[in-house]
Amino acid sequence: MPGTNLTRDEAATRAGLLTVGSYLVELDLTTGEHTFASTTTIEFTCASPGASTFADLVGAEVHEITLNGRALDPATAYVDSRIALDDLAAANTLVVRADCTYSRSGEGLHRFVDPVDDRVYLYTQFEVPDARRVYTTFEQPDLKSVFTFRVTAPEDWKVVSNSPSPDPVHLGAGRARWDFAPTKPMSTYITAVVAGEYHEVQDVYVGAHGEIPLGHYCRQSLVEHLDVEELLTITRQGFEFFEEAFDFPYPFGKYDQLYVPEYNMGAMENAGCVTLRDEYLPRSRQDGAFYEFRASVVLHEMAHMWFGDLVTMRWWDDLWLNESFAEWACYHAAVENTAFTESWTGFTNARKVTGYRQDQMPSTHPIAADNHDLEAVEVNFDMITYAKGASVLKQLVAWVGLDPFLVGLRQYFRDHAYGSSEFADLLAALERSSGRELQGWAREWLQTAGVNTLTPASAVDAEGRYTSVTVQQSAVPEWPTLRRHRLGVGLYDEVDGRLELRRHLEIDVEGATTEVPELVGEPRPDLLLLNDHDLAYAKIRLDERSLATVVRGLATLDDSLARALCWGAAWDMVRDGELAATAYVDLVLGAIGSETDAFGGSVIPRFAATAANLYAAPDHRAGLVARWEQGVRRLLHEAAPGSDLQLTFARALAGAARSDDALDELEGLLAGTTGVPGLEVDTDLRWVLVTALAARGRLGEDRIAAEEARDATISGREHAAGARAALPTPEAKEAAWQQAFVDPETPNETQRSIVTSFFQHGQDDVLAPYVGRFLDVAGTAYERLGTQRASTALRFGFPTVLASPGLLADVDAWLATTQANANAVRYVTEGRSEVARALAARTADADAAR
Ligand SMILES: [Zn+2]
Repeated sequence: MPGTNLTRDEAATRAGLLTVGSYLVELDLTTGEHTFASTTTIEFTCASPGASTFADLVGAEVHEITLNGRALDPATAYVDSRIALDDLAAANTLVVRADCTYSRSGEGLHRFVDPVDDRVYLYTQFEVPDARRVYTTFEQPDLKSVFTFRVTAPEDWKVVSNSPSPDPVHLGAGRARWDFAPTKPMSTYITAVVAGEYHEVQDVYVGAHGEIPLGHYCRQSLVEHLDVEELLTITRQGFEFFEEAFDFPYPFGKYDQLYVPEYNMGAMENAGCVTLRDEYLPRSRQDGAFYEFRASVVLHEMAHMWFGDLVTMRWWDDLWLNESFAEWACYHAAVENTAFTESWTGFTNARKVTGYRQDQMPSTHPIAADNHDLEAVEVNFDMITYAKGASVLKQLVAWVGLDPFLVGLRQYFRDHAYGSSEFADLLAALERSSGRELQGWAREWLQTAGVNTLTPASAVDAEGRYTSVTVQQSAVPEWPTLRRHRLGVGLYDEVDGRLELRRHLEIDVEGATTEVPELVGEPRPDLLLLNDHDLAYAKIRLDERSLATVVRGLATLDDSLARALCWGAAWDMVRDGELAATAYVDLVLGAIGSETDAFGGSVIPRFAATAANLYAAPDHRAGLVARWEQGVRRLLHEAAPGSDLQLTFARALAGAARSDDALDELEGLLAGTTGVPGLEVDTDLRWVLVTALAARGRLGEDRIAAEEARDATISGREHAAGARAALPTPEAKEAAWQQAFVDPETPNETQRSIVTSFFQHGQDDVLAPYVGRFLDVAGTAYERLGTQRASTALRFGFPTVLASPGLLADVDAWLATTQANANAVRYVTEGRSEVARALAARTADADAAR
C-alpha cells in the first residue's frame, strides 16, 4: 500500500469515476489543545455504479464512517490513510466523523500559542496534499467542488476561510459557530481555515469590476508592526493591474491576507484567504530588498487567484507552470504598476541565480517534471519550478511578444474558468494568439534539463574593428541540448569615466555557433555584454577585455540590469572555476559600495563571503578572509548614514569578523559603546551581533539567555536557539543537534533557526563528528521527522562548511549503500555537488595565485 502517497494513475482513475458535488466540513476547535473534531459530508456521483474508490484522511482517529446510510467499520475501512468506499451508487453521500491532530510542523492545521501573551493562533496549510490532515477529501487538484465550512471556536476568536466570515452563532459557554456560505468551485489544496485571536483590519478596493473587501490579519503582539497602508497600496496596485491584464474580474469575492506564525514558506494562495509568514511584518529595520521581496510575494499570490485557483492544473505535472507563471506575473506587475520599476534587476540578482544553481546540480530535472506520484512532486518542487520556470516564461514572452502572450492568456482564463487544464491548453492558446509554432520550443525548453553557456568570440582588424563576432553555445555532457535563444547584445564603452551603452541589438541564437554579422565593422567595445536586458536563460561569459573592464569599472555602469548580468557572469565564473575567488572578492569590494539595486546590495556580499570562506585556496584563505573583513568594515564606515547598504554591511561584518579588533567593534555596537552614525542597533540587528559573537566564542549561554529575556517573543526564542547552535562548544552543538535533527517535536521555525546556524565556518574541530552524524540522520530523517522537518534538516543542514576530499569520500560511501528515501538522497547529492564545486574553485584560486 502507498502510505500517504498517491499516484497520478490512481488520481486519473478516480477523476474518471467521480464528480464531487459538495463538501460540508464541520470543525470543532474547542475540543482540546492537541486534537480537533472533524466531520465531513461529501456528496458525489459515480459514473460506474457498483465501482469502488477511496477517500483520503491522514493521521485521524476515525469514529464513524457512513456511505449512503450504511455504516462502515473504521477498523477495516480506514487503513493506511485511505477510506475504502465499495459498491458506490450513482449518487452518494459519505459522512466521516473523526478527530484530527493539530500540527507543530506547519503541515495541516497548525496551532501556535504566542509566548508573549498566551494567545492562540491556528491556520491551515494544505499544498500539496495536506487538506486530508484536517478533513476527509478526494485529495487531487482536478476534483474541484464547492466547500461549506462550519467552524466551532471560542466566541471571541476571528474565523476566516475562503468565503466571507459570517456573524457567528453563539452556542453558550463561550463557544460560537461560523456557518460559511458555500465557496466557488475550487480544489482542496486552496481551501483554508484561519482561526484564533487575530487582529483584523478591513478596507476595500474599488476597481473596474466593483468592490473587493480587503482584510489584513496578524497576531495581537504584531499589531504595531502591521504597516497596513503600504500593504494596501501594493494590494490595490496588484488588483488594478491583474484585472486589466487578465481581462477577468477577481473571481473569489473578498480578499483576505493573513500574516501567520511559524510559517514554512513565503505565502500560500488559498482562494481569497492568502496566508503569509508573519516575519513579513518586520519589527526592526529592514533593507529595501525586504520590502521589494514582500511586494513580489503579495503580487505572486494574487496572480495565483487567476492562474492556479480559477484555472487549476489537472495534476501536479503542471505545478511548475503554476509557480513559474505567478513568478513571472509578479515581477511583470511590479515593474508595470508599482514603485518597484526595476524588479527584473532584482530577479536577475537574487532569484535567477537560484535557478542556475539548482539547474547545475545532479538532481536537476526538466521544468515539466514527470510527477508520477506525490513523492515525485516533493522531489521536483524546487527552484527549477520557480526561478528557472519564470526565466523561461520571460524568454517565451520575448519569443511570442507580450501582447500576443496576454491575448492568449485571456482566452485561456475564459475557456477554463473554475475548471482544470493542462499546459497543452495554454500552449495552444498562445499558438493561436501569436501564430508561432510552440511545440518544438516547449520540447527544447521544458522537457530537457540543464543550462547552456553562451560565450562571445571575436576577431578585430588593425583599427580595432570587429571582423567577426560569434556567440558560442555549449552544454554539459549530461544535458547536451543546445537551445534557441532570443538574445540581447550590448556594446558598452568607457567614456569620461563611465561605462556607456553604444549599441544594443537583439538576435536569435541557435546551435553551437551563431554569427552576428550586424557587428562586423563595429569598433570593438570595452564591454561586450551578451544577454543585455536579460531575456535569455543562459550563463554568459565575458571575454578577456570585457572582464578587465568590469573589474576596473563595474561601479560606473549605470544600467542596474546590465550590472546584474555582469555580477552574475562573474559569480558563475567563480563557481565554474574560471575566475579566482580572490579576484571575485576584490571585484565585490571595489564595486558593491555603489550598487543601487536593493537585491544586488543584499545578496552579493553573501556570495563574496562564500568565495572567501569556501572557495579560496587553503593556502591563502586566512589572508582573503582577513581582506574581506577589513573591506567590509571600510564599506560599513563609508556607507551613507541610514542607508540600506549600511545595514547590509553591518550584517556582513558580523559574519566576516574574525580579528580581535573587528570582534571588539561588534561588542561595542552591541553594548552601545561604539556607534556607526545612522546605524540603529535594533532588536534584529542585536541578534545578528549576538549570534556572530556566539559563533566566535566571544559570549556564552548566560548572555544569550539575557538577550532572550530582553526579547521575550517567539522571534526572540527562535533567534536564541540559533545563537546557542552557533556556540563553538561540544555541549552546545550536542544540545542543538538533538533539537533540530533528532527531536520530532521541535517547532518548525525554531528548528529552521537552529539548522541554519549550526554549521559555522572556522569551527572545524567541534563540527568534525557531525559529518557522520548528518549522514546517519539522513538515512531515516523522513521517517522520523516527517516531510517538513526532514527537508529543513537535510537541505539547510548539510555540512558544506567542512568541504574536503574526505567529506566527499564519506558522502560517496553513504550514497553507495543508502536505503534512504528519494528526497534524502536528493539533498545529500546536492550537498555533495556544492562541496565538489568548492574544491574545484579552490584549485582555480590556487592556480591564479601562482
Ligand atoms: Zn506560488
